[in-house]
Amino acid sequence: MRGPPAGPRNLLRRLRQVMAEPIEAQARLNKTVQLIAANMVAEVCSLYVLHADGVLELYATEGLKPEAVHQATLTVGQGLVGTIAAEARPLNLADAQSHPAYRYIPETGEERFNAFLGVPLLRAGRTLGVLVVQNAAHRTYHAEEVEALQTTAMILAEVVGVAELSRLGKPDIGLDVGRAILLEGVSLGEGIGLGHAVLHDPRVVVTDLIGEDPKKESTRLDEAIGGLRLFVDDMLARDDVSAAGEHREILEAYRMFAHDRGWVRRMHEAINNGLSAEAAVEKVQSDMRARLLRQVDPYLRDRMHDFDDLANRLLRVLTNREHDPYGQGLPRDAVIVARSMGAAELLDYGQARIRGLVLEEGGATSHVAIVARALGIATVGRAEEVVALVENGDAIIVDGVAGRVHVRPNTDVEAAYAEKVRFRARRQKQYELLRHKPATTTDGQRIGLMMNAGLLVDLPHLDESGAEGIGLFRTELQFMIAETMPRLGEQRDLYRTVMEAAGDRPVAFRTLDIGGDKVLPYLKIANEQNPAMGWRAIRLGLDRPGLLRMQLRALLQAAAGRELRLMLPMVTEIDEIHQARSMMEREIAHMRRHGHVEPKGIELGVVVEVPSLLWQLDELIREADFISIGSNDLLQFMTASDRGNTLVAERFDPLSRPFLRALRSVLDAADGRVPVTLCGELAGSPLGALALAGLGFRSLSISADAIGPVKAALLAADCSELEALARSYMAESDAGGSLRSHLIELAERRGIPH
Ligand code: PEP
Ligand code: MG
Repeated sequence: MRGPPAGPRNLLRRLRQVMAEPIEAQARLNKTVQLIAANMVAEVCSLYVLHADGVLELYATEGLKPEAVHQATLTVGQGLVGTIAAEARPLNLADAQSHPAYRYIPETGEERFNAFLGVPLLRAGRTLGVLVVQNAAHRTYHAEEVEALQTTAMILAEVVGVAELSRLGKPDIGLDVGRAILLEGVSLGEGIGLGHAVLHDPRVVVTDLIGEDPKKESTRLDEAIGGLRLFVDDMLARDDVSAAGEHREILEAYRMFAHDRGWVRRMHEAINNGLSAEAAVEKVQSDMRARLLRQVDPYLRDRMHDFDDLANRLLRVLTNREHDPYGQGLPRDAVIVARSMGAAELLDYGQARIRGLVLEEGGATSHVAIVARALGIATVGRAEEVVALVENGDAIIVDGVAGRVHVRPNTDVEAAYAEKVRFRARRQKQYELLRHKPATTTDGQRIGLMMNAGLLVDLPHLDESGAEGIGLFRTELQFMIAETMPRLGEQRDLYRTVMEAAGDRPVAFRTLDIGGDKVLPYLKIANEQNPAMGWRAIRLGLDRPGLLRMQLRALLQAAAGRELRLMLPMVTEIDEIHQARSMMEREIAHMRRHGHVEPKGIELGVVVEVPSLLWQLDELIREADFISIGSNDLLQFMTASDRGNTLVAERFDPLSRPFLRALRSVLDAADGRVPVTLCGELAGSPLGALALAGLGFRSLSISADAIGPVKAALLAADCSELEALARSYMAESDAGGSLRSHLIELAERRGIPH
């Protein structure tokens, strides 16, 4: 390997000293540009800083007229400096004035200089400013010089105090890197959360930027890359990585990148210029990110995420830091920011300190969204690039009502939201007044409103919301938050506590719905290509009878002397109900033999969520004691659109004819002989509930915080009018459109809150 030039390393060491000197901010910048100019043998070195309004201002210069400092400005895209900021890449010119973008700024006196080299100052891929060197001679700077200036710029971007720069510039306009940003996403969990960002998978912050011994740093880097390649190869070789599928594709991409010679070469170059191995990883990543951020091609942007992951992994190896998102202690008002997240990971944080959740991915019926709603956490999904735009500790507002995220909001926005929070609290008080009122429409139709639950923390909501019972208890949540498989006693205790909290109100326990995206760390299930349609729920329960039998035993024991309501998820054919029933009967016989007190009565219900049941409705009605429609899964299977995939999850409106017809067919078949309810997210919005009431549903199970708004809507509606609207919509045969727009029109005309 080529011997490292001593120049850049000395410069970096000197820069560090200047940064630590107790001098004024402007003097520090002046010294910095002098140092860089001397080191690069340049007649000019200038630093431009980018403001939030898109203006680049000259902050310091060696060689240009000093009176131009804080006077000379350019906008992004304007002149050579503006072009560098816009494109986030270096510009190396022998004759600057002949470049088409060249713009003459008289106050600087720069016309004497011909050679020009400018590089962006990047902080986590975002542009802080531009660093330029100039010479009078016509010359092109060597590749090593470009690299050296880039390295210097990276160090400068990290060590220069953003607050200090802010103070030196124009008052009222902050720096672009600290700019307030509004991101439009989709609402996944109602509510408004004000707090401070906590990155779920934080970038490793490199503190040792300068490498004293480049040979040693190169060896460290090579070892870390070797480890990374082995890790990726190991993952690919594991049996449970199926032959095809998304997971494998990602790993293949990782392998390709881990062996990318250009990537590795650029990191070694950065080390030769004086950086530590970890700083080199970060520098190359930051350059790459800045370039890829400007790509519109979604494929390339996805590759950026892969590179980010890989670079982060490499940094962890180099800094010996294991991933520990919760170790550092959460702030009291944490807003968790993540690309994507599993439900169990969210539960790991504990709810007490979480004010909000922001995801780059995530559909409304994904399990993390359901758990976030159950925990009452304001949540926004599909907030593009939020992970890159936010730094740990940034102020952030999650508007789960409008589906917006405000990053580093200005004080006016913050005040407006604080007012919104107070307003919502007042409205919540009004909902509380409705707590003991049944949801009866103006023409006297009573709609039973129950709540969905799954955790102990949900139980207080029973009284607070005025729910008439628990229409869906997701038993798998206890399994998802546990480190090891909950034992019989633990399961029984939870079920008993739930029944005791509910008192006379009914509780429908759904047997374990594990599999799909509900993974348990301690239960090894081979990776499936299509987990949602794979070995999950009742399928797994019947094939691994030990698990389901233990759960049935726990439920039967917990319900001693009470009514027990059970329902089976993902039933696809009637025989599965028979099998589950005989398993339960064996458990009852077992409890009799052991002298346990039996439940007073048992009702066995079925969740209708696999479309095949729609063609077995007569048999189903005969076999099931009650029916609960799981609209989340039913919709995903009927429309063949993955509920967790943001590209398709909201593509099809559940309030459209095919889906409403399916729901109607269940009500028609039941014909009042068995109770039918609906427990998917559809029922939890006022418009969804109005549509369902119009279709004939008289019982719904929704999240606790939806009870107030849904009840307020039903109380203001005339059910016969809803029915007439639904009937005429269903009878129309023209294909397009959904019932939604008609309902909105009706709600607005009648003053129904929706
Ligand atoms: C459903 O599928 O609609 C449902 C209620 O169950 P889950 O969301 O837990 O799959
Ligand atoms: Mg389901």
